[in-house]
Amino acid sequence: MTAQTLTIAVFEGDGIGPEIMTPARDVIDAAVALAGASPFTYHFLPAGAAHFAKTGEDLPTASIEAAKAADAILLSAMGLPHIRKPDGTEITPQIGLRFALGLYAGVRPIKVYPGQKTPLADPRAANMDFVLVRESTEGLFAHMNEGVIHGDAEATETLRITRATSEKLFDFAFRLAQRRAELKGRPGRVTCVDKANVFRAFWFFRSIFEERAKAFPDVANDTAYVDAMAMWMVQRPWEFDVMVTENMFGDILSDLAAGLVGSLGLAPSADIGDDVAVFQPCHGSAPDIAGQGIANPLAMILSGAMMLDWLAVEHDAPELAAAAKMVEDAVAKVLSEGTHLTGDLGGSATTQSCADAVLTRLQGRVD
Ligand code: ATP
Repeated sequence: MTAQTLTIAVFEGDGIGPEIMTPARDVIDAAVALAGASPFTYHFLPAGAAHFAKTGEDLPTASIEAAKAADAILLSAMGLPHIRKPDGTEITPQIGLRFALGLYAGVRPIKVYPGQKTPLADPRAANMDFVLVRESTEGLFAHMNEGVIHGDAEATETLRITRATSEKLFDFAFRLAQRRAELKGRPGRVTCVDKANVFRAFWFFRSIFEERAKAFPDVANDTAYVDAMAMWMVQRPWEFDVMVTENMFGDILSDLAAGLVGSLGLAPSADIGDDVAVFQPCHGSAPDIAGQGIANPLAMILSGAMMLDWLAVEHDAPELAAAAKMVEDAVAKVLSEGTHLTGDLGGSATTQSCADAVLTRLQGRVD
């Protein structure tokens, strides 16, 4: 049992954010209790578009500091299209947090659960189970507000790769592959996705990958050009384990990857830094369905499962890994039964009844 009580910072967010956060926390709490771990303490922090409309601040410094001090951060969706900053941009505190907390590894697991539809006709698509690790603080986004437009003739942007961040990123990807190998009982593999044949910065990126790979002899490694990878992700995505790539390539490939598994309502994610991490669904605040109680809570619940597994490693707490597995298994059961699915997955369940179905399967009761 974890000796100390872990504190989780919670950003409930905008739109459907609070609607999916509450049932997700109920599922997490039930799994933690069943696994015999100490209950979590939650610290609710203000941020987001509604908060900005009230106060003029989207991500208060006090919220950043409190989030930093927590053991992990759970974040629901943030932002509302009609609430914007004076320059017309949307409120995106989730991106602000990435930079403020140095969350360099964006983790996007792509998995087909039993009963889940994929647009790929090949039956092997049912075995798709890979993780895309997107560097999230540099690459083409490092200088994202500093692009220069020279008159109306030319524009330039700068791409930046640093050794310090790349080493941490690759080490994270290799450790993730080790963890997946341990959990799945098969060897791990990391594929570096770049454009090293054309750009020096990517040659540098790849050479650091190859250096770091030597420190993980138990994990297979290879490299791929991003254009080829875009094709392979459609033709044979089930062959990959962990992919690691630059920020912009990761941005594009993660949407391609999400398209391989259908609904946004099922896609969890994590943004990981040195000893702090944010767990959040890939989808936005879905203002078109907010307030109706029909949002799919499963991406938020699966993000909670990722948090439990990350905490298990960070705090050497195998009971939290057991809790993570319980949550994932219960979600898989609900998906394969197909009777408690929300509208985005073709069902008619409410957010609450879908989350309750996960809860009852978690607790061994099936209604
Ligand atoms: P953002 O730019 O903030 O990521 P977005 O423009 O990609 O947001 P979302 O808010 O993710 O948009 O919504 C895209 C579509 O997916 C909407 O029709 C929304 O209703 C639907 N959607 C998103 N999340 C869910 C969910 N959890 N359950 C059901 N439908 C969802």
